[in-house]
Amino acid sequence: MDSKTSCDVIIIGAGVSGISAAKVLAENGVEDLIILEASDRIGGRIRKQDFGGVSVELGAGWIAGVGGKQANPVWELANKTGLRTCFSDYSNARYNIYDRSGKIFPSGVAADSYKKAVESAIQRLRSEEANCNSADMAMNFDFDQISTPKTPIELAIDFILHDFEMAEVEPISTYTDFGEGEFLVADERGYEHLLYKMAETFLFTSEGQILENRLQLNKVVRELQHSRSGVAVTTEDGCIYEANYAILSVSIGVLQSDLISFEPPLPRWKTEAIDKCDVIVYTKIFLKFPHKFWPCGPGKEFFIYAHERRGYYTFWQHMENVYPGSNILVVTLTNGESKRIEAQSDQETLKEAMEVLRNMFGPDIPNAIDILVPRWWNNRFQRGSYSNYPIISNSQAFDSIRAPVGRVFFTGEHTSERFNGYVHGGYLSGIDTSQALLEEIRKEKEKERINETHSFLLEPYLALTLSQTDTVAGLHKCEVPRQVFLSRKMGIPEAIL
Ligand SMILES: Cc1cc2nc3c(=O)[nH]c(=O)nc-3n(C[C@H](O)[C@H](O)[C@H](O)COP(=O)(O)OP(=O)(O)OC[C@H]3O[C@@H](n4cnc5c(N)ncnc54)[C@H](O)[C@@H]3O)c2cc1C
Repeated sequence: MDSKTSCDVIIIGAGVSGISAAKVLAENGVEDLIILEASDRIGGRIRKQDFGGVSVELGAGWIAGVGGKQANPVWELANKTGLRTCFSDYSNARYNIYDRSGKIFPSGVAADSYKKAVESAIQRLRSEEANCNSADMAMNFDFDQISTPKTPIELAIDFILHDFEMAEVEPISTYTDFGEGEFLVADERGYEHLLYKMAETFLFTSEGQILENRLQLNKVVRELQHSRSGVAVTTEDGCIYEANYAILSVSIGVLQSDLISFEPPLPRWKTEAIDKCDVIVYTKIFLKFPHKFWPCGPGKEFFIYAHERRGYYTFWQHMENVYPGSNILVVTLTNGESKRIEAQSDQETLKEAMEVLRNMFGPDIPNAIDILVPRWWNNRFQRGSYSNYPIISNSQAFDSIRAPVGRVFFTGEHTSERFNGYVHGGYLSGIDTSQALLEEIRKEKEKERINETHSFLLEPYLALTLSQTDTVAGLHKCEVPRQVFLSRKMGIPEAIL
């Protein structure tokens, strides 16, 4: 490959949003495109890995929002490609709460704590809303009625509610639009199979491999220059790619980091919107055992550990429903706990997890024979798991996050107002961004056509005027200043020069 390559559109990132954006462009005649992906694979936060004899999903695992009036487009893709999935029912998790001595809390106690936690979560949401809406509302709000979780069971339920079920503004569009069902992907080809199927429609593939130089792997974009006339992208290995437009699909965590520099820098309204969005770190730790020692009957797939430290190895799942006989447990950690375990060795994490399991199931259980700890926070191409907008956010936040800056368009799950944080959010945002770009291309072509028509009509008149000017050339010499010409050619605002 030359060190300088030109095309119509550069797409940065080959996650679900980058691939869906590229597909829409290709289907609409913009085939001269290049996808630059920093890692050695497509998929981004959709990623499988072989572990303990089966395929596990390190990133997205569930297709969330199934069974409603509208079809979830990702669910439709999964059905079309025959992806194997398994229904998940979290509702019983609250009846499988273990204390530190291995006793399961009686269902009445669990149900009471759950009810109390839901009420206080609703109060907390209302208080945030009151704070945001007006000083009057905030003054009249009775903040004392919000109880703070204190006991291990309250802390565990609070963690489940906030870090899983209610981390978003109610009502949650995913469930209201697409339905309440959630299906866990359990397919040896992985969730990422959907992306290969999508890529196959516009990139040349053979035996499941994408063999096209319009997809460039191991290309870490470090600089994005943009002007009125185009974009130039420089990768870590020194290659330069030029195009009319760029679509940037990197995660919100990457946008908040300094991996990519912009020239000229992004405007303040954009950087402020990027910085305001929170990044959730969500880590699934996989543990393989020589045999199972946990209950596996109906309603037992998910279980909870109540500890005085919030989020300490709280949420567990066994994989017997999806892969019978796999003897694998998954424990989910978030945010501070995720960052803490990312910083320590896997052996230390294994020791902690085993201590928790021995508290729940007794001292005689076997040691895990393998552990897998994904590190989404320390991955410089991710810097976290997904976006989380403040509970009370207005459309302005999303408008700013997704608005293009000149010829640079933004896409990815974080730009989806209704479905941020989800695979379908990424998928739909890629489609929306490409449609906005196609509209921009159409407008630009229309402008060019009008300009051409004008200059064609004006030509005879200009010829006449010029010949007249020639005769007085010595009297009124009128030159376009050099920097103005440069600025028009480069598309740089004149004020900068
Ligand atoms: C642990 C975890 C669990 C999740 N669980 C679920 C779930 O159960 N259900 C669900 O619907 N969603 C879930 N999600 C969220 C879902 O995975 C994401 O919303 C979605 O995959 C995001 O897609 P994207 O295209 O926006 O971003 P990404 O997949 O992050 O794609 C961006 C791409 O850009 C690349 N990139 C970054 N920097 C550069 C650079 N400088 N140059 C070139 N390329 C670059 C990255 O390598 C990446 O491939 C989960 C995510 C995680 C991490």
